[in-house]
Amino acid sequence: MGPFEMITKYGEHEEVLFCHDKNLGLKAIIAVHNTALGPALGGTRMWNYKTEEEALVDVLRLSKGMTYKAAAAGLNLGGGKAVIIGDPKTQKNEALFRAFGHFVNSLNGKYITAEDVGTSVQDMEHVFMETPWVTGIPKDFGGSGDPSPYTAHGVLMGIKASASEKFGTDSLKGMRVAVQGLGNVGSNLVKYLVEEGAQIIVADIDQNRVKKISDQYGAKAVSVDEILGVDCDIQAPCAMGAIVNDQTITKFKCKVIAGGANNQLAEARHGDQLRELGILYAPDYVVNAGGLMNVFVELEGYSPERAFEKTRKVYDNVKRVFEISKRDNIGTHTAADRVAEERIATIGRLKQRHPGKSSRTFTTLREVYNR
Ligand code: NAD
Repeated sequence: MGPFEMITKYGEHEEVLFCHDKNLGLKAIIAVHNTALGPALGGTRMWNYKTEEEALVDVLRLSKGMTYKAAAAGLNLGGGKAVIIGDPKTQKNEALFRAFGHFVNSLNGKYITAEDVGTSVQDMEHVFMETPWVTGIPKDFGGSGDPSPYTAHGVLMGIKASASEKFGTDSLKGMRVAVQGLGNVGSNLVKYLVEEGAQIIVADIDQNRVKKISDQYGAKAVSVDEILGVDCDIQAPCAMGAIVNDQTITKFKCKVIAGGANNQLAEARHGDQLRELGILYAPDYVVNAGGLMNVFVELEGYSPERAFEKTRKVYDNVKRVFEISKRDNIGTHTAADRVAEERIATIGRLKQRHPGKSSRTFTTLREVYNR
């Protein structure tokens, strides 16, 4: 399949930029999916893709996902993503990321980058040397640092909204919550859940993390094979994707699935199956948008208080998805897409009524995202 056919297949992207520097060995692709709501924001992934086609498919899918995530989060951001083809363990250097920064800069703020799988805050510092269009830079540079506590706080809000929908109360006191994965998001989530009075069951492949969290919070530990089938009220997946699949779907004993992991449904049909089983699924990209909200606040001039304030909105966003699901008699995963698409269409139309601004030269981040 040629690149244009792939762009058509994976989401009608506005712009795809192939970045190449032969001397430095830079091969990167930046995909701007949709800017109806604002500049396209999404991280830069560095990965040892086997083929260039694999890299293109990844960046096209991920950038479209960012459009939906930002739209459903109620942010004035569009969706974009970048991939650098290469081994993050051996092929990283300052020049590579500065050269990449040049390409980001050439898009004049239409695309704003951040760190992602395979890239670090230090890599973003190098990008920042060449372009202001980067978020997630260190706090010393006015950045927002680690987004995980904000992601976890948003997940807590998503869990509370789901509890309110399923159990008629958003109090988590005495609620049994299973947390799969105790990394950056999972460990912060456990802390918040304990503060809410929930009973926690945990599992991680890393036994040191399990011990630390069990000792610190009195959480009950089970094996990684047991966690998804454990008797509980709420499952909060915070490890890897595709945990709802043909093998696991009959194991769940919970009434709610609401967690931080990306791409929890192996396929969309698993969302429909959960609905048939009476398990309420809070769509992952609506629940885990707290980290994106945090970098959005960075664009305005960072304040942790405002970032936490923003992550509280996840509660209403998840509730809105449940409303649409009931209104249109569709699965919550489909309802989330509908919320995003409706917002893009509505705001896209509004923007057509303000042509006066389009001729301005934008010089600051704030002006650009307010477009
Ligand atoms: P992380 O790498 O810090 O933590 C992941 C944890 O999951 C690790 O402790 C790992 O040992 C554990 N794990 C892996 N496989 C497991 C298994 N089979 N069973 C149990 N535990 C397992 O990652 P993170 O930043 O905490 O992110 C967790 C998830 O949330 C990912 O899917 C990520 O894409 C998503 N997410 C993270 C953020 C963020 O701000 N960090 C934002 C949005 C979405």
